[in-house]
Amino acid sequence: MIAAGPSLPIVRVQDLRKTFVLRGPWPWSPTREVEALKGVDLELSVGQVLAVVGQSGSGKTTLSRIVLGLEEPSSGEVWLEGRRWDGLSEAERQPRRVHFQYVPQDAMSALDPQQTAAEHVAETLRVLRGRSRAQAREEADALLERLGLATRRDALPRQMSGGEQRRVTLARVLALDPHLVVADEPTSGLDPKRREEVLEDLVGNLPRDAACILVTHDMATARAWCTHAMVMLDGWVIESFDPRTAEPRHPYSRLLFDPWSAPLPSGSLATVGCPFHPDCPFAVDACQTVMPALEPRSGHRVACHAIHALPEPRTATL
Ligand code: SF4
Repeated sequence: MIAAGPSLPIVRVQDLRKTFVLRGPWPWSPTREVEALKGVDLELSVGQVLAVVGQSGSGKTTLSRIVLGLEEPSSGEVWLEGRRWDGLSEAERQPRRVHFQYVPQDAMSALDPQQTAAEHVAETLRVLRGRSRAQAREEADALLERLGLATRRDALPRQMSGGEQRRVTLARVLALDPHLVVADEPTSGLDPKRREEVLEDLVGNLPRDAACILVTHDMATARAWCTHAMVMLDGWVIESFDPRTAEPRHPYSRLLFDPWSAPLPSGSLATVGCPFHPDCPFAVDACQTVMPALEPRSGHRVACHAIHALPEPRTATL
């Protein structure tokens, strides 16, 4: 795993907001606005691996897509390697896009059914890094060997396991020597052993001058592979902390990281105040009307009105 490095921000996000306008099936159907992000700040430096954690609909995928310029924010700013990234045209982004790579959740749909593992990687090297055919083949073989896929170089996607398909998509991303990798649930649906292999391939092989955003539901992944964790709830960031050394402090984060202790809220979240207040055992009057700001507390940043009443976080046990 790469170590936390000096503070050279690769990603800086300021007050990011995104509202989707949803339309009904007919032209005269009423529209509905959904706020997917409600003012997200984020800074990520070389060597850092950030777990963005939250339930479905919390805004984590929207955030990762906006960071990569696959979606435009409604307001706020995105800076990549010190230069403004949001609001650019695709032509303006193109020369830098190769440095900022996306690992999709659905590896199969990202692969060409007619290409072998080696051809996928070699083509990436030829088209996006300008390698000759011979060079591309040689580098692709070396990369597949490094990722433990040497014996699968001639396999077609349909002949690969789910874990192998994901590792080939990772090989393509790593072939580009990325500065930022954003991986959206890269291990979902895999058994624990395959999960470890994919994460070892991804995080363990990141270039030393890169950073990574890992969108995940899996708390064990955050603890084992990430230098930072950011918990999202209904478009808000409610906590950030170091998952290697500390347990979460916010009442909702605690449920996420320890789902056996109590059920996560299954009904709709509150639309005013803290979204978690109907289910929160610590709720005070203010929780029903005002969403608290993130405040520093014992090395964490926590958005909670009851921050001073919450038990101290324990040290994480890996
Ligand atoms: S105490 Fe209030 S602000 Fe804190 S998590 Fe509970 S409901 Fe939200």
